[in-house]
Amino acid sequence: MNVLKQVQAWLRWPFKQLKHVWFWLRWPAPHRTVVVDELPEQFRDKEIYLIGENGHFWCVAMLCPCGCSEVIQLNLVAGTRPLWTFKLDSDTRAITLSPSIWRTVGCRSHFHVRLGRVQWSPPTKHLPPNQPNPQPNRQMIQRHHKTASEPSSR
Ligand SMILES: [Zn+2]
Repeated sequence: MNVLKQVQAWLRWPFKQLKHVWFWLRWPAPHRTVVVDELPEQFRDKEIYLIGENGHFWCVAMLCPCGCSEVIQLNLVAGTRPLWTFKLDSDTRAITLSPSIWRTVGCRSHFHVRLGRVQWSPPTKHLPPNQPNPQPNRQMIQRHHKTASEPSSR
C-alpha cells in the first residue's frame, strides 16, 4: 500500500467516526441491518433482516414500523414481482430499499426505508395499483345487505 493512500485513509478516519456518531444520534433511531441465512423466528423492533447466503440475497424482512407487529417480507429475486432492490451504506451498513413499501392489507402503511430510517408517506385513500381492495368500503357493504335482504329473505 502506498504511503499517500495510507495517509489519506488516516486523515479520513475521524470523519468516518463522525459519520457513525451522526448516524446513530439522529432521530428517529435507525434500523440495524442484520444479515441472516433464513427468516428469523423472532423479529425485533428496529432491525431489518437481509436474508440470503454467500452475498446472494432473496428477501428483506422487518416488523411493520407502525407498531401493528405484522411481519413484512420483500422479494429481492429478479424476475418475480413485486420486486425490491436494496443498497447498503459502505460505512454504517444502513439499508436503503426501493421502491416504497405499501401494505395492501391490515394497517395499509406506506413508507420508504432510506439509510435504515423509515420515512412515512402522506396518507392517501388510493390503493397501490393492481391490488384488489381487501376491505370493501361501508357503502358497498350496505348496498350488498340491501340487495341480499330485499327479495324473499325470510
Ligand atoms: Zn403496520
